[in-house]
Order: sequence, then structure tokens, then C-alpha cells
Amino acid sequence: MTARIIDGKVIAAELRARVAEEVAKVRREHQLTPGLAVVLVGNDPASEVYVRSKHTQTQAAGMASFEHRLPADVAQADLLALIAKLNGDPAVDGILVQLPLPKSIQADAVINAIDPAKDVDGLHPNNAGRLAGGFAALSPCTPLGCIILSKSVHASLEGMNAIVIGRSNLVGRPLVQLLLNENATVTIAHSRSRDLPQLCARADLVYAAVGKPEMVRAGWVKPGATVIDVGINRLPLADGKTRLVGDVAFKEVSDVAGAITPVPGGVGQMTVACLLVNTLRAACAIRGLAKPLV
Ligand code: NDP
Repeated sequence: MTARIIDGKVIAAELRARVAEEVAKVRREHQLTPGLAVVLVGNDPASEVYVRSKHTQTQAAGMASFEHRLPADVAQADLLALIAKLNGDPAVDGILVQLPLPKSIQADAVINAIDPAKDVDGLHPNNAGRLAGGFAALSPCTPLGCIILSKSVHASLEGMNAIVIGRSNLVGRPLVQLLLNENATVTIAHSRSRDLPQLCARADLVYAAVGKPEMVRAGWVKPGATVIDVGINRLPLADGKTRLVGDVAFKEVSDVAGAITPVPGGVGQMTVACLLVNTLRAACAIRGLAKPLV
């Protein structure tokens, strides 16, 4: 293995510490305690783990954490009523509805009901549109984390050739916009793209956000490229257990890439840290305070 390992755990811990410092500052100077409300519908085990981790990390950063748990069979109207209440609650600066939602609920209707100023997941069409237009916006957390990890390797991404594999609203599309804001030259690839290995081989920066275990192979990657693996896939093992792998064949790509994120321990670590960043930014913006230093 020759690639430098980009340690998401360390970088996320540093980011959380910087958020905590800024939170202490706004509490001291403006008597403001930013608050994050997380809404969990049903009891999907993976979502439970994420929500618990968000709660712990929010409190550790000195912010208020509000958890709302609703049964899987909750009526959409009741969920929308809760969102309306949180929109109007001055103690709540950020609202996150844990996805996926049960099939009986229209996720779009729920996301659209969140006040864009409190939309710390960055999924409301107002924020997506503002980001696409190059205006200040709350951006989705995972792509924000990808940019921070990339900049831990390259101080500037200006002029670099980047490829983003995947075009979801959650990861691929906002990541493309954030890369454009960094003045990278971006190719966006998806399931209909032709010659993906060749497209990928031109890139200095490779972002894999597909959901296909170990799809990106060593032969796709330009020697020395930086590879950011967003994928989280559970591979079944012979003993009935599972192993977590990304969208990149980590072992073989590590012999070619210049730097690479591991799974676990890479992008996943950054997502909650960036949620804290967004909550702090939202709290300051809502009150017309200066943008925090994170
Ligand atoms: P989606 O399923 O919403 O999107 C997947 C994208 O990959 C689509 O744009 C799809 O193309 C594209 N795709 C599918 N197959 C291929 C293929 N063979 N070649 C090229 N492109 C392909 O997934 P998400 O964006 O939500 O998530 C992607 C991965 O990232 C998942 O593994 C997910 O678990 C993980 N993830 C990790 C997070 C973290 O915190 N680390 C957070 C969020 C997601 P098309 O549009 O044409 O269908």
C-alpha cells in the first residue's frame, strides 16, 4: 500500500472541537445555545444508531439536542404538524428528519415543509437551488465532509479534474456544486455513463457515491489521485456476519492512489460533524450574527 490514508476520524474530531469552540463563543457573547431537533419515524436499526450518535455529538459540542420519535404508522399530517411546530420554535435552529421514511409518507412533502433556514440536511429545494446557483446555502452534510477531506490533502482544488460517480440529491449533485465552488473541473457520472473506467482514469479527484461494493478498481484510478469513498455497503460473510465496504476496492486502489479514505473511518465520520457545522451556521444566520469561523 502506498497511498496516504485520509483519517476521517481524526479530521472529524478536529472539526467537532472547532464547532464546540465557536458554540462556546456564541453562548458567551450572544447568550445563544444552538439547538438541533432530530425526528425519527419508526425504528429502523441503522437509523436508531445514527440518531443516537447525532444526539451525543450535538450535546458534546455544547448545543441543545431535541429528539422526536414517532411510530412507523404515524399519519403524514401529524408529522407535518410536528415540523410546523419545530419551524416556529425559537430554541430549534436545525431540523433533521432521519431518512429513509416509511413508504406511507411522502419524503418530498416532509422535506419541503422544513423552514429552509433550519434545513441543516440541505435537502430543501430552496437550498439545493441556491447551492446550484452559487449562492450561500445550507449544503448537505456528506458532500461538505467530502470537500473538507479533499482539502486535508490539497490546500486548493482549483483547476483539478474531479469525477463524481453518482448523482443523487443527497450526495452526488450537491458535491458537484461544491466542487464547482472550489473551481474544480467536474465530470458527473451515473448508471448511464459510458466508459466509466476511462472517465475515471482522467481524474485527479475521484468521488464514489454509488452504493455498489468495491466497484472502483485499481485500473480505473490515475496514479497519485485522491480517492474519496462515500459508499457504505454490507457484504455478507460465510459465518453469517457482515463486513462494511465502500464503493472502492480499497486494498488494490491503495497501491495506485496518492491518498484514499477508508470505509469505515472516512467520509462517514464527517457527516455528523458537518451537521453540527450546519446547525451552528443556521443559528447564527437566523439571528443575523456573523458567520462562525467553521
Ligand atoms: P443513490 O442510490 O441515491 O444514488 C446512487 C447513484 O449511483 C445514482 O446516481 C446512480 O445512477 C449511480 N449508479 C448506480 N449504479 C451505477 C453504476 N453501475 N455506475 C455508475 N453509477 C451508478 O445513493 P446515495 O447517493 O444516497 O448513496 C450512495 C452511497 O453512499 C451508498 O452506499 C450510501 O450508503 C452511501 N452514503 C454514505 C453516507 C455517509 O455518511 N458516508 C451518506 C449518504 C450515503 P442513476 O442516477 O443513473 O440511477
